[in-house]
Amino acid sequence: MNFPEHFDVIVVGGGHAGTEACLAAARMGCRTLLLSHNVETLGQMSCNPAIGGIGKSHLVKEIDALGGAMALATDAGGIQFRILNARKGPAVRATRAQADRVLYKAAIRHALENQPNLWIFQQAVDDLIVENDQVRGVVTQMGLKFHANQVVLTTGTFLGGVIHIGLQNHSGGRAGDPPAQALAARLREYPLQVDRLKTGTPPRIDAKSVDFSELQEQWGDEPRPVMSVRGNRALQPPQVCCWITHTNEQTHEIIRGGLDRSPMYSGVIEGVGPRYCPSIEDKIHRFADKLSHQVFIEPEGLTTHELYPNGISTSLPFDVQMNLVRSIKGFENAHITRPGYAIEYDFFNPQDLKYSLETKVIGGLYFAGQINGTTGYEEAGAQGLLAGLNAARRARDLEAWCPRRDQAYLGVLVDDLITMGTREPYRMFTSRAEYRLLLREDNADQRLTEKGRELGLVGDEQWQAFCEKREAVERERARLKDTWVQAGSVEAAKLDGKIVSQLTREHSLFDLLKRPELHYADVANLKGEVSVAEAVAEQIEIDAKYSGYISRQQEEIDRLRAHENTRFPEDFDFATVDGLSNEVKQKLSEARPDTLARAQRIPGVTPAAVSLLLIYLKKRG
Ligand code: FAD
Repeated sequence: MNFPEHFDVIVVGGGHAGTEACLAAARMGCRTLLLSHNVETLGQMSCNPAIGGIGKSHLVKEIDALGGAMALATDAGGIQFRILNARKGPAVRATRAQADRVLYKAAIRHALENQPNLWIFQQAVDDLIVENDQVRGVVTQMGLKFHANQVVLTTGTFLGGVIHIGLQNHSGGRAGDPPAQALAARLREYPLQVDRLKTGTPPRIDAKSVDFSELQEQWGDEPRPVMSVRGNRALQPPQVCCWITHTNEQTHEIIRGGLDRSPMYSGVIEGVGPRYCPSIEDKIHRFADKLSHQVFIEPEGLTTHELYPNGISTSLPFDVQMNLVRSIKGFENAHITRPGYAIEYDFFNPQDLKYSLETKVIGGLYFAGQINGTTGYEEAGAQGLLAGLNAARRARDLEAWCPRRDQAYLGVLVDDLITMGTREPYRMFTSRAEYRLLLREDNADQRLTEKGRELGLVGDEQWQAFCEKREAVERERARLKDTWVQAGSVEAAKLDGKIVSQLTREHSLFDLLKRPELHYADVANLKGEVSVAEAVAEQIEIDAKYSGYISRQQEEIDRLRAHENTRFPEDFDFATVDGLSNEVKQKLSEARPDTLARAQRIPGVTPAAVSLLLIYLKKRG
């Protein structure tokens, strides 16, 4: 049966990528359908109950700056907030929130159900409708056909998913959910490069069985951070404590004793796991000389006793899991409510995608999230938003958009994936960005909200608040630049004891703010009482302190921009460029970069090869 109405965009999968994708397309005015296995699991956190962290919060704030839902849902469900790297530079500062899973999911569902132009339907998608290499819709498990010329697949860990606990395994998309077998088989028929990855999760523990007197408490920060520029601290739920404990030599001995029944070490699992979020058995194996590993204990929510012990993800057999958990301080009598497990799943080489996240082989078919080899809610959400907005633009015959590497972590993420592909689950770090000082979490709105408004992603209320903040920053910056303090004046005396070297001449307040020992609060009211919002003060202080570095980064970006604009013709044959080594030719032919700058970023493409390509392109005219 054909569903009677036609859609502009269909999104398959209601996880973190899918929800941002369908919200983005609908915000842009497209008739959008979200199809997912189960309405009850929309926005579900498959693994740890936390959002943000280093590199990841930058993505969350960029999603927010573009009108997305993840940061607002985090504020609605956040039960502990902290600023990581608070004492380090602003480039690497990051917000992390523990979330009550139920509240987070409810906030996402609320956003979905109240979004105009968006329809939700619960059903597995088993097949795609493709005509002449152009997607036309999808077919669900019960044979219902939905039609659209743009389809975004965000199937997470579900394609061909296999769950492993010890040497036992079964098909599954995640614990308690079915896998997507029919769709996986269908996708394997297309000329897309497919491979297997794996990820894992720890056993969950009943708090009633834990001895908290043995654990170290960790509370959130005060004043409490907010995740969204639209967030309201006063509306965040009650805040709770997390705890820290450690593994010990006995734990490690138990794990080593179980490795012969580990699916990872006995060769049952072939997929590659996340390097930066390894299982406890991986850690014991890889860092054999370490006698202890930290376990960070996160509450799963306000209305449950379940705890998430971050750091002991495992797929060892259940008897080993029980023994290893009970060998840890505070967990001596712990009751496991859900076993840890690993999951193997299909992912597709993102080098087969365009920068819009549309596949190169099937027109209108987009991939976003874990299906592209990434790991993490934030990475998935950011890709989802990009795929959704580009699907919406395609529906309107508009050109695709993707931020550059110097505009957003989202630009870095997509560029890394498309240029280099990935052989292991990819997660975001600040170290992946070369322009860290420009891509701070505090200025995500300044970098992206105007573009978001132009794309149709940012609503009136957010836009108005953004404009007010931008004006307030400009006004206050101008005031600080125009307000002067004389050496030896009453105002200068107020700085005594705060500044390292005395003032010897007249200084503007903005210049004073450049001194590392002075903060906005020290200088702002030297001449008259002024009151600005926290976020405005923060923005001005960072701009003042880092303006030298920021303008140097900007100059470098402008220099490299020339390469960003040097494009290869679509049919360019890299094999015909004389002087390139066969290895470089092969790498370029596989990755098919569209600009010289992207060619330059492919590992193995040397500066000499870039010069040859530049000369060749110039000769071709
Ligand atoms: P998901 O959140 O998985 O959402 C996929 C959605 O698609 C689901 O709603 C599903 O029902 C739906 N779906 C799939 N196929 C179909 C279909 N054919 N028809 C209809 N609906 C369909 N991340 C980390 O950063 N660190 C970790 O340590 C970590 N460990 C993990 C451990 C496990 C066991 C799992 C399952 C995930 C783990 N993750 C981890 C990954 C994290 O959950 C994902 O990165 C993130 O959820 C990916 O978001 P997504 O939107 O791509 O997919």
